[in-house]
Amino acid sequence: MILGRLQSILRGDLPDFPEEPPGDGGRRIVLTASRAEMADFGMDPYIAFYNTFPHKLVRRAVEKYFQSRPNPDGTERFALYGLRKVEALLKEKYGDDVVVAHPDNLHRFIGPRTELVGISTMDPVGLAYVSTTYNSILGFGGISMNAVEFKALLNHPSIKRYRENFKILVGGAGVWQIRDSGWQKELGIDYLFRGEAEESLLEVVEKILKGEKLPPYIVGKPPDYNKTNIPVIKGGASYGMVEITRGCGRGCQFCTPTMRRRISLPLEHIMKEVEVNVRAGSEMIFIATEDAFLWNTHPNFVPNREALVKLYSTIASHPSVRYIQISHAAIAPVLADRKLLDELTPILLPKTRYTPDYKRTYKRPFVTVEVGIESGSPRIMKRYMRGKALPFSVEKWPEIVVEGYWRVQRSRLVASLHSDDRAPGGEGGGPDPNPESHRRPERVKSVFSASLFHPP
Ligand code: SF4
Repeated sequence: MILGRLQSILRGDLPDFPEEPPGDGGRRIVLTASRAEMADFGMDPYIAFYNTFPHKLVRRAVEKYFQSRPNPDGTERFALYGLRKVEALLKEKYGDDVVVAHPDNLHRFIGPRTELVGISTMDPVGLAYVSTTYNSILGFGGISMNAVEFKALLNHPSIKRYRENFKILVGGAGVWQIRDSGWQKELGIDYLFRGEAEESLLEVVEKILKGEKLPPYIVGKPPDYNKTNIPVIKGGASYGMVEITRGCGRGCQFCTPTMRRRISLPLEHIMKEVEVNVRAGSEMIFIATEDAFLWNTHPNFVPNREALVKLYSTIASHPSVRYIQISHAAIAPVLADRKLLDELTPILLPKTRYTPDYKRTYKRPFVTVEVGIESGSPRIMKRYMRGKALPFSVEKWPEIVVEGYWRVQRSRLVASLHSDDRAPGGEGGGPDPNPESHRRPERVKSVFSASLFHPP
């Protein structure tokens, strides 16, 4: 048995999906994602990073999380947040003709009636920054788990059996990988959709269902938030995810989110999505934002402490919310308002997942957050991302990083620091020659993660 398992890991076996066709002819629109992207890893988002490592090395560690958690009708109880947004949008017009299903249950919904299979993906080809960095460093073990599972989804027996009947539309943050790698045709994908869904996706889907021919790469129009409604999700999102802001506005030159107009979702909208998630059975609310301190920010990125306290305390006081997980944060706001963490920590710390009860190796509770340092050089920061330091001058960036992290650490937040050294060093190119500014953050208790090998 051990030998068989070892052979299977080395071969990188693909899953055996069920094949029986649906008794009722299937649904018109079926939304899905790969098993790897659908999983929530026992509500620990950091384990999801394993999917970006070579599949032969990590399959054993992650595959146990890949099973479906279906509702009684076979639809999925928790799915990618983006997929849930698309579902909510399409259901307004197509109602029960739209379902979200896990690959393990696609055979129950893809059939002769199916006209469109929509797939959401963040890392379909394994070109996300963590995938490229660590696969390049390791150099063995094959392509990333995400890439293998995406390919397995497209080779699903139900997709193959009824392929002539429907179109495949792929959206999500990773569509650029398919376009730039030139693999769209090879993967059998009819349409790629990039951008926000609210303004254009419904029209695109209508045209596909009418049989109109569209360009293979479609860019969604930015929503006009004065007229366009952002729908409330209708089913549970992975990790209990809830969007609180969209866009950023700091204007870093390499960044996609900053190209979107910044909005803060109203508290009422946020709490409706919290409710949907807890009703689906989630104990965690994962705050989706580019910056946990950005919600209803004051001008020049001075954090709105009163609003943030109200937001987080309202979520925390929901009787069914056991954990709150924040994702990303900017570092400058913790210095722009020195009372910010003093007031937020007592709300967030009792709601952290990361306690000695969760893992014995954790000596005391802590809150985690991901922060982008990007570079320690004011010169590079000034040239490519001067807005990161606001409301302070970018010339002070190393001091902001060092002092900000000490403040974060004192508040029992553990930051995962991302440094991106791909930026050319100025006129002469090459990395910045200032090693001191890179060394300083090492004195802070954090996970420091350099991200290299970005595609151009
Ligand atoms: S601060 Fe972060 S989210 Fe905002 S523009 Fe810069 S990289 Fe993008």
